Amino acid sequence: MTKPMEYFGPAPWGPALDNPHEDMVKTPENMVCYACKEPIVLGDSGLLMWLVGGPNGLERIANHRECHLRNIVGSVGHQRRACPCFGGEEEDPPGMSLREAAIAACQLAGVPLSPKRSDLQ
Ligand SMILES: [Zn+2]
Ligand SMILES: [Zn+2]
Repeated sequence: MTKPMEYFGPAPWGPALDNPHEDMVKTPENMVCYACKEPIVLGDSGLLMWLVGGPNGLERIANHRECHLRNIVGSVGHQRRACPCFGGEEEDPPGMSLREAAIAACQLAGVPLSPKRSDLQ
């Protein structure tokens, strides 16, 4: 049975930091990110987890690290309290792809970015 969550990327992250040998897996280059729908490519950081009750039943899905973390920290609009939760209309910044908006949300929240992304700064 595959573990609930497995991590991939150039460097261990999240709970895999404690046990990289057990939790880090090969980058799933044949998958697309469930959140942003962009292909997973070598050098991306992310995680694999089970999706229960989706259209395909039990399904193993991949998410980029930042796309996953956006669900935890909230969109840029949510962090600014300008989203529908607070009576506003702002969510992701206009003109950004879902992936870019997820990275922007992590930056605004002060989450350290994945190695590849940090290298680009
Ligand atoms: Zn993504
Ligand atoms: Zn919100």
